[in-house]
Amino acid sequence: MKFKIVSKGDKRSNKIKSTIKQYLTDFDLEYCRQEPDLVISVGGDGTFLEAFHRYVHRLDQTAFIGVHTGHLGFYADWLPDEVEKLIIEIAKTPYQVVEYPLLEVIIRSKLDKNESRFLALNESTIKTLEGSVVMDVEIKGDHFETFRGDGLCISTPSGSTAYNKALGGGIIHPSLPSIQLTEMASINNRVFRTIGSPLILPKHHTCMLKPMNDRSLIITIDHYTKTYENVKSIQCRVAKEKIRFARFRPFPFWDRVRDSFVAEGDF
Ligand code: NAP
Repeated sequence: MKFKIVSKGDKRSNKIKSTIKQYLTDFDLEYCRQEPDLVISVGGDGTFLEAFHRYVHRLDQTAFIGVHTGHLGFYADWLPDEVEKLIIEIAKTPYQVVEYPLLEVIIRSKLDKNESRFLALNESTIKTLEGSVVMDVEIKGDHFETFRGDGLCISTPSGSTAYNKALGGGIIHPSLPSIQLTEMASINNRVFRTIGSPLILPKHHTCMLKPMNDRSLIITIDHYTKTYENVKSIQCRVAKEKIRFARFRPFPFWDRVRDSFVAEGDF
């Protein structure tokens, strides 16, 4: 089996990376940057997002696992003092694979027929630096509302605990292939009216966002941010692709939610 380790880059994460690399190589596993079967992220959930995007082009052939060098994470759920146990589990392969849904985002331009396609593990957000975002929101081809406000966030189930949660969105179990649309400070008055509640869309319900003015848009895909001019539409739906996690022990999603947000942590 070929493996690759993506480190956050700090001293502690780099040390853990060296230990894992040394032990797994001793177990005759091959370190491979180009075509790893297993990608081990060492850092936080942010590092995991980086690891995901580095290998987003070969999701069907790569499984991911995360070691957290800070507090317990949602994607990085192994702790540094469990690393030896994890190494033994990895060396024993094969492992169980658990799949989570992803968000597909297609950005189309008014100027040409080119389109840019992205996959997000957490979410995509649309904002602007020039006043407010004004967008028609279509669901499954039908006009739903015209949004005016700071922006919109479209998240995956596993991303529902990240930015989405800060916007008042619901937490969705990752076994539900869905996307969630949450508002950022919508303007609601006699002229502009939006639903106000987060919307959860099932697989195959496409959400199309069509800007109604010519302002440049700041569009994020997880931790990446880019400014776009002349955007015709932003199409969002559950992606065909999924992220595959290498699972060596059960760690229920709701336990992670409780440990992160409710229980007084031991971490
Ligand atoms: P960052 O601003 O350095 O960190 C964002 C925080 O979100 C970190 O504490 C990170 O955990 C945590 N996080 C990431 N994915 C998560 C998930 N699925 N569930 C719960 N917490 C999660 O940014 P970054 O490290 O580059 O990560 C980009 C992410 O930041 C975006 O995808 C977005 O979800 C999030 N974000 C949140 C807000 C907000 O809550 N108001 C605003 C902007 C962006 P670690 O410490 O383990 O890395």
